[in-house]
Amino acid sequence: MRWLAQQLQQLASKGLRRQLRPLPCSGPHVTYKGRRLLNLASNDYLGLSTDPRLVTAAREALERWGVGTGAARLVVGNRPVHEALEAALADLKEAEAALVFPSGYATNVGVLSALAGPRDQIFADALNHASLNDGARLSRASFRYYRHRDLEQLQRLLEGPGPRPGGRRFIVTDAIFSMDGTLAPLNELVVLAERYDALLVVDDAHGTGIVGPEGRGTAHYLGVASRIPLQIATLSKALGVQGGAAIGSALLIDYLLHRARAFIYSTGLAPVLAAAALEAVRIIRTEEGERRRRQQQRLVARLKAGLEAQGYIVRHEAPAPMLAVLVGTPEAAMQLATYLEAQGVLVGAIRPPTVPPGTSRIRLAPMATHTDEDIEAALAAFPRAEVWAHHAD
Ligand SMILES: *Cc1c(COP(=O)(O)O)cnc(C)c1O
Repeated sequence: MRWLAQQLQQLASKGLRRQLRPLPCSGPHVTYKGRRLLNLASNDYLGLSTDPRLVTAAREALERWGVGTGAARLVVGNRPVHEALEAALADLKEAEAALVFPSGYATNVGVLSALAGPRDQIFADALNHASLNDGARLSRASFRYYRHRDLEQLQRLLEGPGPRPGGRRFIVTDAIFSMDGTLAPLNELVVLAERYDALLVVDDAHGTGIVGPEGRGTAHYLGVASRIPLQIATLSKALGVQGGAAIGSALLIDYLLHRARAFIYSTGLAPVLAAAALEAVRIIRTEEGERRRRQQQRLVARLKAGLEAQGYIVRHEAPAPMLAVLVGTPEAAMQLATYLEAQGVLVGAIRPPTVPPGTSRIRLAPMATHTDEDIEAALAAFPRAEVWAHHAD
């Protein structure tokens, strides 16, 4: 087993060693080793993960149905709350049906490996989430990346050789690229997919609940929801819970029920989680949900303006709920994150392979439950960019 130790050592020498830390609670502030830290590192954009109403919904489900489902959904693991959640998600996205998976990761792996096969072609944005890439590989379809949001390159690929006889084409994209805070050009992708007869799959993990009217997501924000046959959502980001969902036509969802192995061969999502997610979907569609979204957007804009004024290169496109501060090397990202934590601010240090080499970054995501004072404190914690760049050399 020496080779394992050697590989870990190599990662360490490149500044790529990773570590788990036991943080006692999620929420706008967390306590670690006796210190209260401002939490800008989560995907819990609306602050729902610790919301008392979600906790109550989960507790009631716990008392009613126990902890585990005891079986896959197709055996005896299906509960009314799963079906209620699927109906609510379909309604949120104005689609016919939805199928809930144990996680967003499992959804993408299950969906792509079920829909695509060896005769097919998958075209994917180069910055897509790892789970989409893993699903595409598992499908054994021919798999080509196009440069991030490069529609011309995608069009050239689509004009190239078609799939094998009987094969189909897929275009697969994140809706919001969470490590860059950028949006996919869904309006143009819809047109290309229609023109070249490709099935467009949009993973709206970071838009669902936080973007668009009633939190319906990025496709609704951009006005193209009805032209996207299949959306992926996760319950684990703005909804504050855990689990994933495929959302589309009744036919598509029925097919996935028969063919998505990550659904078929996995125990049904815990009813506790389904009940909490159902409550989250209810809340995001209310006026209160809208207020939370507006507050989160305002804090993102304020953080961005402050960082730019301090000389940082910030990547972000409204209404993405997160922003990225470009730093460069993994070591520099770790150093800045460690420095910020010493100042009381918890941020994400994002390094390869999550992002391309040379683009390590700090990822920041305020929550709707943060205040203006929290953002001011975060900005005060950042060293001035030129001071920092000098220090990092
Ligand atoms: C987080 C994320 C997933 C995975 O979702 P989980 O529910 O955390 O497994 C999938 N796709 C994208 C784009 C994500 O950001």
